[in-house]
Amino acid sequence: MTVCVESVAEVRAQAAEARRRGLRIGLVPTMGALHEGHASLIRAARAECGWVAVSIFVNPTQFGPGEDFARYPRPLEADAALCRREGIDLVFAPSAAEMYPAGFATAVRVAGLSEKMCGAFRPGHFDGVCTVVAKLFALVQPDAAYFGEKDAQQLAIVRRMAADLNLPVEVRGCPTVREPDGLAMSSRNAYLSPGERRQALALPAALAEARRAMETGERDAARLAALVRQRLAAAKGVELQYVAVVDPDTLEDLAIIGGQVLVALAARVGTTRLIDNVLLRRLPDPRANRTE
Ligand code: AMP
Repeated sequence: MTVCVESVAEVRAQAAEARRRGLRIGLVPTMGALHEGHASLIRAARAECGWVAVSIFVNPTQFGPGEDFARYPRPLEADAALCRREGIDLVFAPSAAEMYPAGFATAVRVAGLSEKMCGAFRPGHFDGVCTVVAKLFALVQPDAAYFGEKDAQQLAIVRRMAADLNLPVEVRGCPTVREPDGLAMSSRNAYLSPGERRQALALPAALAEARRAMETGERDAARLAALVRQRLAAAKGVELQYVAVVDPDTLEDLAIIGGQVLVALAARVGTTRLIDNVLLRRLPDPRANRTE
């Protein structure tokens, strides 16, 4: 049975009870408007944990002025139904006042990693993310928490935070779930008009080209970035914000691609800001692609 709670006290009590029963506790933090990407995180948690909590909270502190906080979709009934179907034990959907009562004064910042890539375009965003995730970790005290590789920078930052603060949680990354035509699933895709939705396909197409280039032996990060930039410059309706070729754990810029690589980008399509990436933990052997 899925229990839905709104208060910090209730979520603590429910998690404590699960712990008392000796169950492995999983947490899937979300902002709701749940789709198959979220469902894949939920299923990964289900497979590894005896008790799973999903948090649904459109966290105001991770939105900048002029961003989409007010219009972010909040279909709580449909979200709760998905959680019930997926056999979730607890849905935690607090109000902003519950998470940030009067006098709230603390922020968690992962320096450096939070300032580049998306952080350069969304100042303070990752401080908001880290603060709310640290609070959720403290409330639920999960053994494992599940995050999408779709938000690869967020995943790297949360991992850094958990390590730096000695938080006893395993941070798990789950592969990006895409629409059949390649667009990465996102709650924000709902903002796209049909025309913009078609234009947005240039993002996964450019990243697929980058992947192919790496598969056929490209190891020069600047050339790879240039390839993605060129592809998106030619795409109608797409305004690229950045493309980064970095180590997926440290987010340090790469010159030559060695063991593992994250090629990440953000772009505006109309007024909607989208992110996507290709993540390779092990570089493909270019010889495997040759037809001899
Ligand atoms: P959000 O509700 O957008 O804040 O996302 C909540 C979690 O779901 C984050 O860890 C995201 O990385 C993850 N997520 C969102 N979209 C996808 C996707 N298409 N595939 C995999 N994970 C995703």
